[in-house]
Amino acid sequence: MEKEEVSQGITRREFLAAGAVASALAVSRLARAEVFAPLAAPSHVDLLITGCDVVTFDGKNTVVTDGAIAVRGNAIAWIGKAADASGMFTAKETVMASGLIAMPGMTDTHYHTAQQFLRGVHRVTHRKGPSWKKTLIPFESGLDPHDVYNSGMVGYTSMISAGTTCFLEAGGPHPDEMGRAADQVGIRGRISLNTCDMDGDGGPLPKSHIMTTSQALKENEALVKRWQSNPRVKAWLSLRQILVNTEELRVSMSKLADELDTNIHTHLSEGTYEVDYTVENWNLRPPEYFESLGIFNKRMHCAHSIFLTPTDVDCYAKHDASVAHCAFGNYGGGPHRMLDMIRANIRVGLGTDGPNSRGTLDLFQVSHYAVLGQTLGYATPFHAPAQITYTDMLRQACRGGAAAAALGDQTGSLEVGKLADIVLVGHDDYDQFTSTDPTLTLAQNVVGLNVRTTIVDGKVVMKDREFLTVDTEKMRADVMARYPGMIARYEKAILLTSGG
Ligand SMILES: [Zn+2]
Repeated sequence: MEKEEVSQGITRREFLAAGAVASALAVSRLARAEVFAPLAAPSHVDLLITGCDVVTFDGKNTVVTDGAIAVRGNAIAWIGKAADASGMFTAKETVMASGLIAMPGMTDTHYHTAQQFLRGVHRVTHRKGPSWKKTLIPFESGLDPHDVYNSGMVGYTSMISAGTTCFLEAGGPHPDEMGRAADQVGIRGRISLNTCDMDGDGGPLPKSHIMTTSQALKENEALVKRWQSNPRVKAWLSLRQILVNTEELRVSMSKLADELDTNIHTHLSEGTYEVDYTVENWNLRPPEYFESLGIFNKRMHCAHSIFLTPTDVDCYAKHDASVAHCAFGNYGGGPHRMLDMIRANIRVGLGTDGPNSRGTLDLFQVSHYAVLGQTLGYATPFHAPAQITYTDMLRQACRGGAAAAALGDQTGSLEVGKLADIVLVGHDDYDQFTSTDPTLTLAQNVVGLNVRTTIVDGKVVMKDREFLTVDTEKMRADVMARYPGMIARYEKAILLTSGG
């Protein structure tokens, strides 16, 4: 923290002086804008956001003070000074953003939609075997399609309200209902189906959660095809976990990913039991095992990835597999080699995971946890200062997350030609008083509750914390009416899996 203050913290006077540099950068960006789309002033745009400081997280970390962003269709058409924008554009819709900071929308790279309503519910934690088999899957098995739709409505609404504009679903039941909710809320996302084709160790899975290998392939393929033409919400393939998938399914799913030109969401190197399992069965560690099958590649998105040696990290880098680091929960497992991953150019983003990781769906907070976790792993034992700044971690939540979602060339930074996934953050609360540097304020002093307005794909989804796409009162009432039945089915399911 202190290191960052010294290297990046500046006074208001220094900051305003730096604004001249930012302005020059903005001019060079304007030249680029003209290359993308020639603009004859005044030009008509669909959306103009004006008066805010713009933290772009582009290649040069450009910041434009008193800036503006023009959006045409679903893409950013121009970024520059608000004073210039006023003469250049007429807009169908204008968002007056004075006093706010604009930043790119973040990507939640690992989220269990169907476990949303298990948050805050008491769990038995000392059962034998992995807890996801003992509590999480039994909970999912009691959900009907309407429950999953409601989970999506609440979860994605929560994300939008905290500055997350894209999510990668970890694989759950009734994924079409997740897609329906995501479509309605207006978030970008990649849904996926819970995919298990064997019971594995630690007792049988609920019947609704297990498929034959051919059925698993067929259902995954059909899901991806059903969502192919949706511009914002698409489906990925899924392999839940090594313990509950056959080798035949792993290899066939990888081929299917190539055929469909899509990715696979899986959990990898999440628990010690999983490392023991692959070493015992194949004398290989989990990533080495994937490598030996020829399925470790850029299409494999690996949640958690905690128990890795330096050689394992090299294996991820060699094959360009992507990673979701879920900082709320991962340090309960062990140290996480996120910094090694960033240095090896591995596409690593942040994720919120499910109720086992506790916490909220706020990636600002996950980012803070990740800095602390990385400091404890890479700095404290060596009597050294933090090896990653809060700013670089927030940038990772934006750009790293986008890259992990295979959207690195379309989202993750505010740049002309990229998709207009934009978050406007307030900083006039006591927590931020008297922060002046917009980048440091975002990285250190705000949380999701400070987000005021969220724009996805050029559409304003939440404005001044009011949802334009969701009737939130109706949503709450429907959830509460169904909640007792849902919890009763969960209680029954965990009794069954524990043999009670
Ligand atoms: Zn997970």
